[in-house]
Amino acid sequence: MSFEIPVKIGLEIHVQITALKTKLFCATKADYRSEEPNTLLCPTCLGLPGALPKVNKKAIEYAIMVAKALNCRIAPKLIFCRKHYFYPDMVKNYQISQYDGPGSTPIASNGFVRIIVDGKPKIVRIRRINLEEDPGRIHYPTGSLLTSKYSLVDYNRSGIALLEIVTEPDIESPREARIFLEKLIAILEYLGVTDTRLEGAFRVDANISVADQARVEIKNIGSIKDVERALTYEILRQKSIIQKGGTVSRETRHWDSSSKVTVPLRIKEFEEDYRYFPDPDLPPITISKEWIEEIEKRMPELPDARIERFVKQYGLDEYRAQVLVLNKWLADLFEEAAKEYNNYKSLADWLITDFLRWVKEFNVDPSRVKATPKHIVKLLKLLDEGLISVRMAKELMPKIVLEGVDVESFVKQHGFSKLSDESELRRVVEEVFREYPRAVEDARRNPKAINFLVGAVMKKTKGRADPQLTIRIIRELLQSQQ
Ligand code: MN
Repeated sequence: MSFEIPVKIGLEIHVQITALKTKLFCATKADYRSEEPNTLLCPTCLGLPGALPKVNKKAIEYAIMVAKALNCRIAPKLIFCRKHYFYPDMVKNYQISQYDGPGSTPIASNGFVRIIVDGKPKIVRIRRINLEEDPGRIHYPTGSLLTSKYSLVDYNRSGIALLEIVTEPDIESPREARIFLEKLIAILEYLGVTDTRLEGAFRVDANISVADQARVEIKNIGSIKDVERALTYEILRQKSIIQKGGTVSRETRHWDSSSKVTVPLRIKEFEEDYRYFPDPDLPPITISKEWIEEIEKRMPELPDARIERFVKQYGLDEYRAQVLVLNKWLADLFEEAAKEYNNYKSLADWLITDFLRWVKEFNVDPSRVKATPKHIVKLLKLLDEGLISVRMAKELMPKIVLEGVDVESFVKQHGFSKLSDESELRRVVEEVFREYPRAVEDARRNPKAINFLVGAVMKKTKGRADPQLTIRIIRELLQSQQ
C-alpha cells in the first residue's frame, strides 16, 4: 500500500513493568492477572485520605535502564506530579506521573530508536519517558465499549508501575509503526522489564495526521497487529474526508478491535485541563551519575549490539542477524546450536524460514516449543550427510517444533511415509473430534487451542499426518459444524 499524501504518526506506548513483585507506590502484590476483581487493594491503591505513597526503587531502576537503552537523557531529579482527570478507572481522580512543564520534567527525554525500513536505516526519536501508575481496568461485559449497556471496574491494576514512552511524529506509515514497535518490544524483552504477551501489559495510543490536518488520537490499542490495522483504517477515513473537501477535526477515537473500526470518543483535553502540580506526598528523588553508572553495568547485551556481534562472530548478513535477534528466544536457540554446528548461514536460514514459519503456523508460544538446539543440529547433520533429503527435512520440521521428535530414531522407525491422503486423514480428524468434544469447543472459541487437536491427530497417526493438511481439515470441520 502506498500513501502519496504525507502521513505523520507519533506513538504513545504504555508498558507495565511486569518484572516487579509489588505496585509502584505500595507493597501490594503486582501480579493481578489470576486474582478475583478488587482483591489486591490497600489504602494507597485506593487513594484513601491519609494513605501515603512510597516509591518502589526497583521501578525507578527499570525506568533508567529503559531510558539508557533508548538513548535518552535522564533527568537529574525525579519529580512526581498529579495529573488530574475524572474517569471511573481513577480512584483518586488524579494519576501520579511526570509533567513536561514548570516544576517537573519527565524521568527521561530526547532519545531515539534505530529501525530498518526496506533495507534502509531510519531513526525514530523518543520525546520522553514517564514513570507513572496504571489506573484500574474497565471491564465491558460484551467485550466492547460500543455494545455494553454498563461497565464494571476492577481496581487490582490500580497502582501497577507503568512506563509511558512517547515518540516524535517520525513514523510515516502503519508498516513503519509495526517495525518500530517490534524493535521497541525486543529491547524491553532483552532488558527483562516487561512481558508484553501478558494481557494489558502493552497498550498503544497512536496520534496521526494526514496531509497536515488536525491530529487524531486513537486510544488503547492492545497489539502490534491492531496498531497497524487501526492506523490503516484511520488513514483511509481521513483521506476520504479530505477528498470530499472536508476537514479533519481534532478528536480522540477508540479502536474497537472486534469490529475493526475507530469510533469517536471525546473531544481531546488540552494539557492545561489536567492541572498538573508536584505531588506533595512524594519528595523529589535525586538520580546521581553514580547510580546510573551502577545500573548501566547490570544491563544485558541489547539487540543492536547483538546484531552487530552476529554479523562479526557468525558471518551472517544484517538481515538474517536482525530476524534472529529480534526474536530473542530464536537467537538464543541459534547460539546454543552454533556451539555444535558451524555452518552458521545454513543454521540461520533453517531457523528463520521453516522453523519460524511452523512456530507461527501452530501459534505456539516460544516457551512451549518442544525443539531443542540438539534437535535442530541433528536434523542439519543428517541433511549434510545425505541421510535425509531437503524435502524430508522440511517435512520433519513441524514434528520437531510441535513434538520435539528425535529425527534420527523417527526416520529409523517409520521410514518416511507421510499420511497425506485427504479422506483417510479426515476420518482420523473426525475420530479425534468425537473423542475430545471439549477441546473442539475450546478451539471454536480460541484459535490457539487448535494445537491440542493437531497433536492428537499426530499421536493417532504416529506423527505421519501431513500437518498443513491436518490444520486445514480441522479448520474446515470447526466451521462446518458451527
Ligand atoms: Mn500515561
